[in-house]
Amino acid sequence: MAGAATPHTAPPQLFTSLLIDGELVAGQGVVEPILNPATGEVLTHIAEASTEQVETAILAANRAFTGWSRTTPQQRSNILLSIADAIEKNADHLAQLEALNCGKPLHLARQDDLTATVDVFRFFAGAVRCQTGQLSGEYVPGYTSMVRRDPIGVVASIAPWNYPIMMAAWKIAPALAAGNTLVFKPSEHTPLSVLALAPVFSRLLPNGVINIVCGGGEGVGSHLVSHPKVRMVSLTGDIVTGQKILQAAAKTLKRTHLELGGKAPVIVCNDADIAAVVEGVRTYGYYNAGQDCTAACRIYAQAGIHDRLVAELGAAVSSLRFAGKRDADNEIGPLISVRQRDRVASFVERALSQPHIERITGAAVHSGPGFFYQPTLLAGCKQGDEIVQREVFGPVVTVTRFDELSQAVDWANDSEYGLASSIWTQNLDKAMQVAGRLQYGCTWINSHFMLVSEMPHGGLKRSGYGKDLSSDSLQDYSVVRHIMARHGSDLA
Ligand code: NAD
Repeated sequence: MAGAATPHTAPPQLFTSLLIDGELVAGQGVVEPILNPATGEVLTHIAEASTEQVETAILAANRAFTGWSRTTPQQRSNILLSIADAIEKNADHLAQLEALNCGKPLHLARQDDLTATVDVFRFFAGAVRCQTGQLSGEYVPGYTSMVRRDPIGVVASIAPWNYPIMMAAWKIAPALAAGNTLVFKPSEHTPLSVLALAPVFSRLLPNGVINIVCGGGEGVGSHLVSHPKVRMVSLTGDIVTGQKILQAAAKTLKRTHLELGGKAPVIVCNDADIAAVVEGVRTYGYYNAGQDCTAACRIYAQAGIHDRLVAELGAAVSSLRFAGKRDADNEIGPLISVRQRDRVASFVERALSQPHIERITGAAVHSGPGFFYQPTLLAGCKQGDEIVQREVFGPVVTVTRFDELSQAVDWANDSEYGLASSIWTQNLDKAMQVAGRLQYGCTWINSHFMLVSEMPHGGLKRSGYGKDLSSDSLQDYSVVRHIMARHGSDLA
């Protein structure tokens, strides 16, 4: 049957080949079904990479490093621009794949994910040509010291399922721009859009510079992160996965770049523009069905506006459109899998088993095909509640009442996570003071969720470390080296 987010156009061409050493090859490992979460239907089957194929990919990336690391920033920049152009040209097709494989509304995949993906490649194409750094100098008479910024080697990039093509861009563009070679592993749930890029990479890049291998975390993933020729591992994923990767990486002292989960606090003061808060949380608490590590999911509402906010937000959230037949009508999609939907449902069940937590709207699995869960708002939540402390990664937002602003800041910081946060007030002095005290990689003022290629994105605490986007990311994917030249001081 026609699924909720199924585009009403011809089915897009599906690519199922891996990319190893410049060749498009069928996987030789376990064959897994790839689902459309909006319908539960099987879209295709993909053979994962075998152990031998992962090995071949790593060795190819290692061989390719010698040549690629010696290209100039201009040469790499030109190739990144060509990749961006190819993605832009195929954006409709890639958006269709993203919509099918994630269940996202097609119009949002096209407008948001694909536009951002193209921009990220273009940003790093420019950024790598205008990096700045320390001055060279004669710190010992007769010797000039200078600093080089050089690539690291083979990077294993491991991506999650929430924004497959955009996460690929965040990882691939800075790593390539900095002169590294890669073995990229998409999530086992969502390989389709990245596999569609394999022919583009194969055409535009020398063999082995980027390799794409599919497979699960415990098999293909753990082979990648424990291989001695892999010099850096970049993960976007769960905290537990980050911990496993750190353990594996410790054996060969690999560099690591970890973008892990989040539980973003949203502090709403009595003097906030409530209409703007309601619109902001309705959009950014539930975007991508809340499967977003920056989702505006943990509201602290000051006593003076608490009841009004809960009432208006409840009405707004219950108006969110999903699982409709017309793609353009849908604002959010399903959860990625039955497992993820059931995980979300069990978080909400446990929360509602506590008498102080009140269901304002939602809190049920959507009846019908696909892995949809109703957009949910829970009020009366307390700071120590599981639903306030743990990442749900679904369309669930909680509201906790506070009296004094200092209490809200303490509660916001009382979290294992440290990725994103926001403060809503019409008093700029107050906003700036709170922004200075929040222990998060990003704080928005009277906004939430907005990311730009020019600014760093990354967490503190158990949300990980290392920055995506911005020239900070180029620094993470490269190393500083000191070169000292002895030239004497006597001209005679
Ligand atoms: P996940 O950790 O289960 O999987 C992420 C990737 O890691 C997948 O490709 C998976 O196959 C791989 N993996 C799993 N175990 C592995 C292992 N032992 N060795 C090597 N690789 C392994 O996460 P997910 O469920 O795909 O994504 C959701 C999580 O990602 C959420 O916790 C979310 O907050 C986080 N996330 C964080 C950011 C950020 O920028 N901080 C962005 C998006 C998602």
